[in-house]
Amino acid sequence: MGCDCRSFETKAVHGNKPYDLVTGAISVPIYQCATFRHEGVGRSTGYDYSRVQNPTREELEKTLAILENGKECLAFTSGMAAISNLFTVFSPGDHIILSEDLYGGTYRVTEEIFNKYGLTSSYVDTSGLSSLIENIRKNTKAIFIETPSNPMMRITDLKAVVAIAKERNILTIVDNTFLSPYFQKPLDLGIDIVVHSGTKYLSGHNDTLSGFVILNDLTLAEKLRNIQKSIGACLPAFDSWLTLRGIKTLAIRLDRQQENAIKIAKWLKNHKNIEQVFYPGLEDHKGHEILKEQASGYGAMISFVVDSEETAKRILERVKIILFAESLGGVETLITYPEQQTHANIPENMRNRVGVTSKLLRISVGIENVDDLINDLKGALED
Ligand SMILES: *Cc1c(COP(=O)(O)O)cnc(C)c1O
Repeated sequence: MGCDCRSFETKAVHGNKPYDLVTGAISVPIYQCATFRHEGVGRSTGYDYSRVQNPTREELEKTLAILENGKECLAFTSGMAAISNLFTVFSPGDHIILSEDLYGGTYRVTEEIFNKYGLTSSYVDTSGLSSLIENIRKNTKAIFIETPSNPMMRITDLKAVVAIAKERNILTIVDNTFLSPYFQKPLDLGIDIVVHSGTKYLSGHNDTLSGFVILNDLTLAEKLRNIQKSIGACLPAFDSWLTLRGIKTLAIRLDRQQENAIKIAKWLKNHKNIEQVFYPGLEDHKGHEILKEQASGYGAMISFVVDSEETAKRILERVKIILFAESLGGVETLITYPEQQTHANIPENMRNRVGVTSKLLRISVGIENVDDLINDLKGALED
């Protein structure tokens, strides 16, 4: 059904069905159910078995399709499950190009699992279009992009990549986890497929895992449904409900997170022990202008280089309000050591080329009071 409204905030709150049609329940019921009774032979309510589809999951999928302006959405047990299910559409001998500055899990699944089945891969700085073109081969089937990338916040010009890919019949995939559809809608820019770790901004409370694939190509969507049904990494009802609940506050959370992030990025930039700050909202950030063109916000992820490995470790061990933990996008501010956590699986030479060193830290800014957060960083650096 979809709500009769145009603004993102209202769509996020009302989702696909603003209330349950039978009971009037404002919150979508959690259909904690594995199987569904049939009225007769060949007659189904539309639900047979929850691996195939579950009403709570379906509501979440439809809501996210609405928010990303896509025709179809599939919900998976995690971001990695979404990406892995998607990659099974490729065949032995196919080649894909991925942003070299990339979530470590995407690198790992490509190198350790899909390469074994004959999928080859190249890691390229997709923010530089000439290097992207140079790496396209006859058998290149897809370009997988993170923008802003993780953790260096590189910005890729999506419309330019679409132009390059379309004339060569190559699929374009964007991992939209960092900005979420509130700030960036890649399908509107001509991208073929959006993937998400819903664990991050979409659910937003560090309390569940989820993952999504959103697309407009109905034939490919049907193929993915069959893959999902066959492999079984489908999001359970309760996690679907948690993610739906999170989505309702996505816009106000991200507004506050971004407001905090801008202040923290500026503060970090002026600190004597900080050598470099990577935040796309800073005017001198490479790609700032491109991001402004293709997105409506900068997000709330900041990476920064400190003056020594000791300073990095000192911050991680001394922050009190900011929590030293992996992940991002939740209401709690988290600090991560990419070299040893999210990017540990990426070979050292590739990490060094990109800039993921022992002096790099990454902050996912939450919704706490920003002065508390800055004082916490100040205390960890200076006391
Ligand atoms: C976390 C993350 C993933 C993986 O998602 P999970 O839900 O942890 O499986 C993929 N891409 C990006 C950009 C991420 O941050």
